Amino acid sequence: MPQASSLPAVKISPRGAARLKNGHVWVYRSDIVSADGIPPGSLVTITDHRGKVLGTALYSSSSQIAIRMISHETVADLPALLRQRVADAIAYRETLIRDTEAYRIIFSEADFLPGLIVDCYGEILLLQILTQAMDADPVRQTILSELTDRLHPASIVERVDPRVRELETLPPRASGLVQGEKTTATFTMNNVQFRYDALEGQKTGAFLDQRENYAAAAQYAHGEALDVFCYQGGFALHLAPRCAHVTGVDSSRPALEVADQNAALNRRDNQPEIEWIEANAFDLLKDYASSNRRYDAIVLDPPAFAKTKRDLDAALRGYKELNLRALKMLRPGGILVTCSCSYHVSQSSFLEMLASAALDAHRTLRLIAVCGQAKDHPILLNVPETAYLKCVIASVT
Ligand code: SAH
Repeated sequence: MPQASSLPAVKISPRGAARLKNGHVWVYRSDIVSADGIPPGSLVTITDHRGKVLGTALYSSSSQIAIRMISHETVADLPALLRQRVADAIAYRETLIRDTEAYRIIFSEADFLPGLIVDCYGEILLLQILTQAMDADPVRQTILSELTDRLHPASIVERVDPRVRELETLPPRASGLVQGEKTTATFTMNNVQFRYDALEGQKTGAFLDQRENYAAAAQYAHGEALDVFCYQGGFALHLAPRCAHVTGVDSSRPALEVADQNAALNRRDNQPEIEWIEANAFDLLKDYASSNRRYDAIVLDPPAFAKTKRDLDAALRGYKELNLRALKMLRPGGILVTCSCSYHVSQSSFLEMLASAALDAHRTLRLIAVCGQAKDHPILLNVPETAYLKCVIASVT
């Protein structure tokens, strides 16, 4: 039973309390009954409308997600709790991670450190801070010192998303080194080598959540392969040793330049060069489909089409258009690897979209694997927002 604490108290509505009781960790602003005068980013005690203590949380004065629970207990010593959580997250990865120097060490709510993301790229750690509470200086210092003591990185780089800071009404801050000097590295994942530049690229540099799906796709792909939305070549590089020819397509020239450097790092004798094409994927697929191009494996890994719930219908139409064109281009026995990283597109609606595309394309799909994000991006079963990536691998006849 939590005890009374000296922390400021936030009272929440019965609906907010029911949400917590069901295992969720967020309370929306509309479910706050009173939070008068509480400074941004405070550690607060949460009570129900009768005053019963429900646990301890981090408070945001501006986000719609006003409360992110950090413990069911009363927290007397936040730095000690943070240090323990960082240590637990690292220990959890030690039980899960094989065959990679790059992986996510801390995934926000899923590691009970809401608002904090830390990725490891060999000797470089990449930090993302998403909330007022995690941005507070003492919190930053605690996290940085625990990461340093346990992992001894050569450097730590912070990646700032200006939009997130604006939403949290935090002062602007530049991305850059917070510790050490190293910003570039080469890392190995599933025996494939990648160049890494901590100050460039999308996300924190690579799409680490696809790590297990790269290996799965490589198991089944063969013949002529097309990696659409290839970025720096994640899927293409994994498929190359298994396929007769691989083409990667992306609209970002900087991404393709790194992809080409990655290909050079991994190319073995007798292996044909991967071809990189800078193009709008929608236009290219349309052209290729109408000129009767055929492939034995196609990967579709577009950016999130549904950023909000409102985009859902348009997103599903976008996914269907892409998948329909890909299905038409696959030879019998071909492999489709199709992904969505939109949380708002559920696994079942993604599969429904795919079934409908298969009908329209007059093709039959046999599911080989229905996968999600790599295990270093844990999913909390009672917090659906922690599950966002879908990757379906199917054989097409
Ligand atoms: N498969 C990649 C990640 C893809 S992320 C990997 O595993 O690393 C989505 C990619 O789509 C980004 O590289 C982005 O540049 C690209 N992109 C976005 N819109 C595009 C479009 N219309 N046509 C082609 N590429 C696009």
